[in-house]
Amino acid sequence: MTQSNQQQSSANKISLYLMFIVLIVLGLSIVTLFSAVYAYYILDEAIVAGFLIIIGAFALTLSGVVLYQTRRNAATLKNDAPKMMTIIECKNCGTKTTREFQRGDFVFKELDVCQKCSEQKQMITGVYKEIKETGKIYAI
Ligand SMILES: [Zn+2]
Repeated sequence: MTQSNQQQSSANKISLYLMFIVLIVLGLSIVTLFSAVYAYYILDEAIVAGFLIIIGAFALTLSGVVLYQTRRNAATLKNDAPKMMTIIECKNCGTKTTREFQRGDFVFKELDVCQKCSEQKQMITGVYKEIKETGKIYAI
């Protein structure tokens, strides 16, 4: 449980760091493109403007590609991460519900009023990690 959480948070950290760099490059490329326009129209420096446009367009494309890749990676990471689930049972009417694990959940924790019988007897009876069926057969 802690291992997957750590992996997820480190992946988040990397993508945040990457996002920061990409945003800087994006900002710089926009500045470069603006200075290209400035160089062309106001300074009348066509060659300088051409170079600036090439650099700006390259940086813009690069940051766009990186942004696209990170978003796709983040999506696949999210899908592959096993879900933590929490089982909630009502001691009064016996209703069993399952929901996604929330921070602070633990077994025998008492919860809010039951939706079915409106008695305050709901309790967490289990926490487990959802394992996706991959069709693997484990030989013992
Ligand atoms: Zn109930």
